[in-house]
Amino acid sequence: MNDCLFCKIVKKEIPSETVAETERALAFKDINPGAPTHVLVIPKEHIPSAQELDAAHGDLLGELFELMAKIASDAGLSRGHRLVTNVGPEAGQSVDHLHFHVLGGRPMSWPPG
Ligand code: 5GP
Ligand code: ZN
Repeated sequence: MNDCLFCKIVKKEIPSETVAETERALAFKDINPGAPTHVLVIPKEHIPSAQELDAAHGDLLGELFELMAKIASDAGLSRGHRLVTNVGPEAGQSVDHLHFHVLGGRPMSWPPG
């Protein structure tokens, strides 16, 4: 049995606000936005984190990054945006299903906290 929150969002067992979808990827609004635009982009297949990625995921990653670029364009983030993936508890990963944050619409500081 798969108790993964984002797998449940993929299967529509938990509602989310879909922003875009491709064959292998889903983009939906973060429930607790940290910026005017805050979209999560995930593979539909369960991959725990970026730590489990290898060259075999190349096509999938291309699809994810193409989708992120489209989301940023569609959201009008021409001044810049940030793509983030947290890996593991110390980095703040709270859902163990690979996800990229697309954040934009306000100035960003660096380094992140
Ligand atoms: P992480 O902390 O793992 O990098 O990011 C997980 C993100 O998932 C957080 O920004 C959090 O707000 C978001 N999130 C957690 N639960 C839900 C949910 O049920 N629906 C949506 N749309 N986002 C969620
Ligand atoms: Zn999952």
